[in-house]
Amino acid sequence: MKLISLGLAIFQFAMGELYASPTIRVLIGSNLKQVSVSGLDLVKKASGKEKVYPGQKSFTFNCAPLKKHKSLKNPLLLTKITSRTGLVSLENSKYRGSIQLVAPKSPKGCDVVNELSLETYIGSVLAKEMNPNWPIEALKAQAVAARSYAFFKIRKKRRSRPVTSNYYDLENSEKHQVNGDFFDVTFNASKAQRMTKGEVLSFKNQKLVPVFFHSKCGGKTRTPDQVWSNKVEGYESVECKFCHNNGVKDWKKVLPKKKLYSAVDRALKYHRGLRLDSGVAKFKVAPGTQDDTHIRVYDNDRLLSLKKSRVRSTLGRRYTLSNTFSVTDDASSFTVQGRGFGHGVGLCQFGALEMAKRGYTYRQILKHYFPSLELKKIY
Ligand SMILES: [Zn+2]
Repeated sequence: MKLISLGLAIFQFAMGELYASPTIRVLIGSNLKQVSVSGLDLVKKASGKEKVYPGQKSFTFNCAPLKKHKSLKNPLLLTKITSRTGLVSLENSKYRGSIQLVAPKSPKGCDVVNELSLETYIGSVLAKEMNPNWPIEALKAQAVAARSYAFFKIRKKRRSRPVTSNYYDLENSEKHQVNGDFFDVTFNASKAQRMTKGEVLSFKNQKLVPVFFHSKCGGKTRTPDQVWSNKVEGYESVECKFCHNNGVKDWKKVLPKKKLYSAVDRALKYHRGLRLDSGVAKFKVAPGTQDDTHIRVYDNDRLLSLKKSRVRSTLGRRYTLSNTFSVTDDASSFTVQGRGFGHGVGLCQFGALEMAKRGYTYRQILKHYFPSLELKKIY
């Protein structure tokens, strides 16, 4: 969860300020030696010149020579390809909007960026992030959360230009809460996107906030500072009575003692500059509840405390499905028992599903998980 340590500044916007419907730049490939782009009626723009290629056309770009440039002052846009049909293919995947080849600051090849309208992007993210057969009010809540997060990232990145080291706003990876390519938009996802067009959550109606979401909180959501480093205004930990019967069941994992010892050791080293020195045999975990945000361990006579999320990242998500877990010290192993799935911050998707089934609107769902945030239409 490195992105959090980049700092979550909150941007202020003037009351009533409206934005044009923005575009978003998503990194879909990095440092590629060769890039193949194809499509119908393509338009290629490079070095300020635009050329139209009627009919089917494919281009293969050799990016290997970029390696000669050790470093560039800023990322450099090399080529931008659009299609009059609105769809461009990169290898075997189709994308809406444009495909852009960019030389990054330390080029080893080309970065490939897909620029598309934020609303189109939200439709495709929704289809990936939530089952499109879920009730429409749950999908609408997710659409607002995803748009708020993406819009926050766009504003943050563009305000920091030209000093930014990247050309794009988001990476197409779990790190930024999105998956897959941008073609698979379902009817319901697109409907939820259209019905909430331009709506984001804001703090005191005037600040943009990064809105996070996860699969299942297991009974109580977490705040960003309980899981990562930064405090974000407007977040509260809320009780969730809705997700219990949906999604992953309560879970239990048995670990060899050495596995937890070395995971705690690595997390302490990375986050606090400390090392364990008791050895596995004397290493003990203090009793605690699943809802505690920290795990406490005895290392010889020292009692050390560490955020559970830190241990989760070094131990691996296979062993800790969420940040809501407790550890029991057995004779020859540790037993980790927990609830929920995912980081637990912000919108609980399975909770939203249940609320929508019971007749709550997306506004009520968002108000439940974000009681201090307001819905605002910005375009
Ligand atoms: Zn929940």
